[in-house]
Amino acid sequence: MHLSPVGTNRRCFLASSALCAIVLLLIPTLQTPQRQGKLPRPLPHTRPTGGENATDNKAASNSKHSSVTSDKSQRDSGGADFLSSRAKEPLRLKDIFIAVKTTRKYHRSRLELLFQTWVSEAKEQTFIFTDGEDKDLKQKAGGSVINTNCSAAHTRQALCCKMSVEYDKFIESQKKWFCHVDDDNYVVLRSLLQLLSSYSHTQDVYLGRPSLDHPIEAPERVRSDGSTSVKFWFATGGAGFCISRGLALKMSPWASLGNFITTAEKIRLPDDCTIGYIIEALLEVPLTHTNLFHSHLENLQRMPAENVLQQVTLSYGGFENRRNVVPIAGAFSLTEDPSRFKTVHCLLYPETEWCHRSRHH
Ligand code: UDP
Ligand code: MN
Repeated sequence: MHLSPVGTNRRCFLASSALCAIVLLLIPTLQTPQRQGKLPRPLPHTRPTGGENATDNKAASNSKHSSVTSDKSQRDSGGADFLSSRAKEPLRLKDIFIAVKTTRKYHRSRLELLFQTWVSEAKEQTFIFTDGEDKDLKQKAGGSVINTNCSAAHTRQALCCKMSVEYDKFIESQKKWFCHVDDDNYVVLRSLLQLLSSYSHTQDVYLGRPSLDHPIEAPERVRSDGSTSVKFWFATGGAGFCISRGLALKMSPWASLGNFITTAEKIRLPDDCTIGYIIEALLEVPLTHTNLFHSHLENLQRMPAENVLQQVTLSYGGFENRRNVVPIAGAFSLTEDPSRFKTVHCLLYPETEWCHRSRHH
């Protein structure tokens, strides 16, 4: 059969076009095995009893205004049997990198309370990110104080500068989990360990609590020119959040070595929103919503007292007008312990020396 050169060219052209189309259709499926909506699966061999309550986006959408819930674990650990996770060593506190964001003016009024309470139980893995030299603090905390040299202002740039240093120090640390908290957070280490133990640090895990009841919408200025917008959830920094090492490494192009500041400047959003943007919008890994993290934006007085010690983070606020603290009673009065952090600490660690003293007075 005779084929005219024009006909052959045309057939070749059609065939290669079809091939190109197939390849183009296949690229997204090959490149992004972790699709949005696919939440990290908790490991089957542990079942947290700390009231872990990771929820889907819809269930968490009333997180800000609803009463604080802290149900006992509703997670079905299921019958799935993952041989690889069976062989894994249990997570230890030293596998977690806890970054505390602070500023010079809060070294005495806020940090001292943290050193007296939960930080004293996690000295090796807690790192303080501040913006000014302080000899007293250095003496107390040694090498775990990091002067970021970021500006001491409460501006987007200054806060993103600190987050950028936190990220780099975590990557350097080789630890399995990155957790960020503010200096008005109490971390219940036992609950944190329990929560993180139910995931693998090699999976893509972003855990925290949104402060909004809807995803935030911002102009897309990283992947395009800002003419389209992008919607994503973010965990509020004031309640603390955690990121697995596996996921943190993937964030590197937009987060490491100053890139975090560039990314934040492009989308013109604060540090915690920028984290959410990189993870949810750019990497397409969904936030795992959990009600175990608490900022003072919530009504903390509404938390049932019996659930307080099962939470991962607590906060306090508003001593001046309306006291917004967890409703927990113990050896300290509201005047002695306005934040309730000492009371919480003595319930968790009754053997602490100053807890004893307060009992005898
Ligand atoms: N912060 C800071 N620089 C400032 C003011 C605050 O780094 O100039 C830190 C502060 O230490 C805390 C966090 O930002 O860890 C949030 O501050 P704050 O609790 O005062 O404010 P809010 O939680 O209401 O945003
Ligand atoms: Mn705060």
